[in-house]
Amino acid sequence: MANYDLIIKNGTIVTADSTVQGDIAIKDGKIIEVSVGKSIEATADREINADGLHILPGLIDTHVHFNEPGRTEWEGLETGSRSLAAGGVTTFFDMPLNSTPPTINKANLELKSSAANEKSIVNPRFWGGLVPENIDDLKDLHENGVIGFKAFMSPSGIADFNNVDDETIYKGMKEIASLGSLLAVHAESTVITDQLAQEKQSQGKTTARDFVESRPIISEIEAVRRVISYAEATGCKLHIVHASSRKVVQVINEAKQRGVDVTVETCPHYLSLTVKDLEEKKALAKCAPPLRDQDEVEDLWAAVANGEINVIASDHSPAPASMKTITDNFFEGWGGISGAQSTLNIMLTEGHFKRNLPLEKIVELTATNPAKLFGLSTKGDIAVNYDADLAIVDLNESFELKKEDLYYRHQHSPYVGMTFKGKVKTTIVGGQVVFENGQPIKK
Ligand SMILES: [Zn+2]
Repeated sequence: MANYDLIIKNGTIVTADSTVQGDIAIKDGKIIEVSVGKSIEATADREINADGLHILPGLIDTHVHFNEPGRTEWEGLETGSRSLAAGGVTTFFDMPLNSTPPTINKANLELKSSAANEKSIVNPRFWGGLVPENIDDLKDLHENGVIGFKAFMSPSGIADFNNVDDETIYKGMKEIASLGSLLAVHAESTVITDQLAQEKQSQGKTTARDFVESRPIISEIEAVRRVISYAEATGCKLHIVHASSRKVVQVINEAKQRGVDVTVETCPHYLSLTVKDLEEKKALAKCAPPLRDQDEVEDLWAAVANGEINVIASDHSPAPASMKTITDNFFEGWGGISGAQSTLNIMLTEGHFKRNLPLEKIVELTATNPAKLFGLSTKGDIAVNYDADLAIVDLNESFELKKEDLYYRHQHSPYVGMTFKGKVKTTIVGGQVVFENGQPIKK
């Protein structure tokens, strides 16, 4: 009998702390040995030669919308998880909405988790929702394993997932604090965005720029300031998702410095796309908060490099192409960007190669920090006793992303046509290969 299930030889192992040359031995889904500078002389059922390749902890995408059950025609756990495997992502946290029923009580959570156990080829975890109707369900959801709760301060666009009023935020955060959990918030001010959208549309101003100006950075800042006040009043841990600008991040950092327990996510699209892309790619590049201008993109990269951002997540929010048509009114057409397969590609191409962001920093933002923040104590690092969740990447290989390369249910993304440097060759989840030779492995 072989000593190990799998040995990965001669790879360049990247963690949040270091980049070293070495071998990794895996058994029963766990990393058993990491040998630096010396090869592991043992037998294994399988050996992967990673000479010339980089091995990263598999990415943990803390923000996806896979829409199953109930809206599987938008994405689904099978197609969604296959696209993640192709992108080197080994764990995802599915948002409570866009699936129907939404994850706002235990029964709905069970529907989703059983579908995920059946269909997902990477590790699934789930957010619970906080809506005005479900304060009494939060404890049950927490006890049944949700990684945290998500609320919208502005309308979600989904009829069965209501946004929270201030009373719900207060009561919800008190309850979530008592559970020792965390609240993630979509923070935009409805008052500001509604007024501006009405003004624009009543004047017939419906261009991409008009849409973006109807959801200004100050609307994010207003909502972030308000929810931070509630975090201070209740002691609830707070996580701001998809900050689109460093100006938003600065408000969060001021709160951190006063001792508020608050963290912040940004997304690859805010780091790689601008209003110009929205003008050209239309609904494929429409999201809320919207894309900003190039100076904002550069400022956000500076925030990333400076340690001001805690987590990079995709906010993969897919929909059928038929919902993504915009003729000349940018207030029409469904918002949400399909991008989960490309997170690592963007961080490598736009971050590492274009802006000298260290590989260790990319690992920290996409794997180590998410694991720490959400208490996944055996993930996010390449070390003995950690789960064997790995992405093996060729940093010398460049490719142009084609529609046919996408494993989403609907093969569209604003990133199609971009040239990326750094290609995922193999993805491993719990010691099992789930992607190789350009193909996800069927469950
Ligand atoms: Zn989202």
